[in-house]
Amino acid sequence: MTTIGPRRVLIVENEPLAAATLATGLGSLGYHVCGVATTPDDALAAVVREQPHVVLMDVCLADGSDGIDTARRICLGRDTAIVFLTAQSDEATLARALEVSPFGFLVKPFRARELKVAIEVAVTKQAKDAAAAREWQELATTDPLTRLPNRRKLAEVLRTEWDRCRRDGVSVTALMIDVDHFKAYNDTYGHPAGDACLVAVAEAIRGSCGRPGDFLCRWGGEEFLAILPTTDITAAAHVAERVLAAVRRRQLQHRGSPTDTILTVSVGGAAVVPAIPTGADDLIATADHSLYIAKRRGRNRAAFERLDGRDVPGDMPPRRA
Ligand code: GH3
Ligand code: MG
Ligand code: MG
Repeated sequence: MTTIGPRRVLIVENEPLAAATLATGLGSLGYHVCGVATTPDDALAAVVREQPHVVLMDVCLADGSDGIDTARRICLGRDTAIVFLTAQSDEATLARALEVSPFGFLVKPFRARELKVAIEVAVTKQAKDAAAAREWQELATTDPLTRLPNRRKLAEVLRTEWDRCRRDGVSVTALMIDVDHFKAYNDTYGHPAGDACLVAVAEAIRGSCGRPGDFLCRWGGEEFLAILPTTDITAAAHVAERVLAAVRRRQLQHRGSPTDTILTVSVGGAAVVPAIPTGADDLIATADHSLYIAKRRGRNRAAFERLDGRDVPGDMPPRRA
């Protein structure tokens, strides 16, 4: 019989003799048996410890525990394939097993070759499902136009970074970046040109806040949001300056703009050392308010506010290319 690469297999079986026979068979098929468990708790602990590729799960465990329920718990948030081994081939057991995906199902007694096929099918299907789930997750959290993360991803990142900065007692800054007179850009050059322009602006901004940990997403429409962890307002002002300069450097002509001949952006910044009762939503709302101030002061500039009400040195003057 051909052997297969050393996949780690966990046996969950309450009959010691059956487990030993299975382990021998698996060894001769080229699998590495990384453990034998008899109860649900043992099985879960072994999965965490050994990270098996596949779990061979007896449907009836010690003390009348349920192997299908245990498998469901094992699969939660883990890339583990399950192959059920059972003496019960009734419809009800099969129907319950179908709720665990992906899985293999073998009715005892079975031959070594059938076991190998069941394991390989389950592992392959599991890998495909995991890849599809990752791809789907990527699609669901990416803006299709600019390829930047979207607001769904922002919520995830913001939760983590907010908590981390609160624990470390350091500032987190939000920069809200909005294209100036973008409606006029669309009106002048057409919507497809507007789309291309947004891609160029996204690239320019991304190049300006690329420190590890910095996060940039498309907030919506012609607005982008950067989250800069461990960054106070002075450091963030330098980032905002780079953003303004990078967009101007692109020299995208904007005949329809009443304030310039090229395309510009405005930046609203807010910084805070996270603490109760402030929330991440307050940070974004304040950045949005700063953006409004930057727009009112003439666009192509940045304005900042702190959430704790302390003064911020004057806003930044308009940039020239
Ligand atoms: P301001 O300087 O005050 O920000 O003016 P503005 O014209 O940029 O702001 P306004 O909110 O009036 O218009 C935003 C425009 O952005 C209107 C909308 O059609 C356009 N827009 C939003 N999303 C997209 C998109 O995905 N592609 C294109 N081409 N245009 C978009
Ligand atoms: Mg806007
Ligand atoms: Mg705008």
